[in-house]
Amino acid sequence: MTTAPVPRLLVVHDDDLGMRFGGDHPTDRRRHQLAVALCRESGLLNLAAVSTAQAPGPMPDEGLERVFAPAFVRAMHRYSRTPVLAAEPEARQWGIGGDNNAYPGMHEDSARVCAACALAAAAVADGRARSALVPAGGAHHGLANRAWGFGIYNETAVAIQTLLDAGLERVAYIDLDVHHGNGTQWIYYDDPRVLTVSVHESGHHLFPGSGFPVETGGAAAPGSSVNVALPPFAGDDAYRRAMSRVVVPVVRAFGPQAIVAQCGVDHHHADPLSHILTTMPLYPELWRALRELADDTCDGRLVALGGGGYEPCTAPPRAWAALAAEMAGVAVADPVPESWREIALAAGCPEPARGWLEDPGPAPDHDRDHAAAAAAEEAIHLTVTALARFFPVLV
Ligand SMILES: [Zn+2]
Repeated sequence: MTTAPVPRLLVVHDDDLGMRFGGDHPTDRRRHQLAVALCRESGLLNLAAVSTAQAPGPMPDEGLERVFAPAFVRAMHRYSRTPVLAAEPEARQWGIGGDNNAYPGMHEDSARVCAACALAAAAVADGRARSALVPAGGAHHGLANRAWGFGIYNETAVAIQTLLDAGLERVAYIDLDVHHGNGTQWIYYDDPRVLTVSVHESGHHLFPGSGFPVETGGAAAPGSSVNVALPPFAGDDAYRRAMSRVVVPVVRAFGPQAIVAQCGVDHHHADPLSHILTTMPLYPELWRALRELADDTCDGRLVALGGGGYEPCTAPPRAWAALAAEMAGVAVADPVPESWREIALAAGCPEPARGWLEDPGPAPDHDRDHAAAAAAEEAIHLTVTALARFFPVLV
């Protein structure tokens, strides 16, 4: 009897996955729908190295309660069943309201994404897939008892917890989203099994206002939290430097048994919510660095999630499809399939790109960019200084 080879990549997705906050809320499902459509139209999903799975039903409460407080889960059920109750002052204490408005089915939508992330992590933990990708996952601001920042349940924590519950003892979490991965950091701040590493725009300038180099882990887990807080306008080179100077060496030194990566691309220059100004050519470099890091440290065990990226037609679809290609071990070539451009046009994207890395880039401003590059070096230096006693390799 022959056994089927383990796929290099499992993609967990269906087009019903994701939150539905309504109105012009930034969490537009087209972001990940068009990414998976580009994977499909490029032939990536038909490769022998790639398998796909539909997201399962909502994660049961006992699964959610591995990470989240039972009272919080009960409150989310209540506001999801009866959204009008979210007018009560108590709802604010649970993080419901504003960017996280209650709507019918809110709990189920979030719990489904959690289930997708858990499926991906479980497949990697038990060897059914070498790596797994959930483009619709990646909510990273929520706490164990509070919804926060476009998310109800912290989906990255569910992926991490699934790996821990499968028996792994060292999990590295790498968060490349432009916003600090605060929820995930605080949930595991005192847990020496989890190293959280976040590269983001400084909390002096951007939500959620945390993620400074001095946040290096709690008393029970010193050196388990790493933050690179980049200045506005830092651009591609700052992300490259943060990766090579900080992320790669600390994760290597930690020696994880698996890596969970939050691959938000809301640092792109067209994104309405940030000021870092990265461009498309950066992303395949980041994905390659992640994949090589996983290959070198933990036999390729990488659970990659989407994340921020709020200009749904521009960066997220091509960035996350390129991530799938890197994880599957194949190269993509221009032009992007015309059939995908037609899908994107039909989805309301006015001028879908013809090239994978096509990007006019931000308007150049020499003085601004020069000052930002110097400030970015200083930011990376601050992180290295804060972490040197935990990671001598940085010095
Ligand atoms: Zn973000």
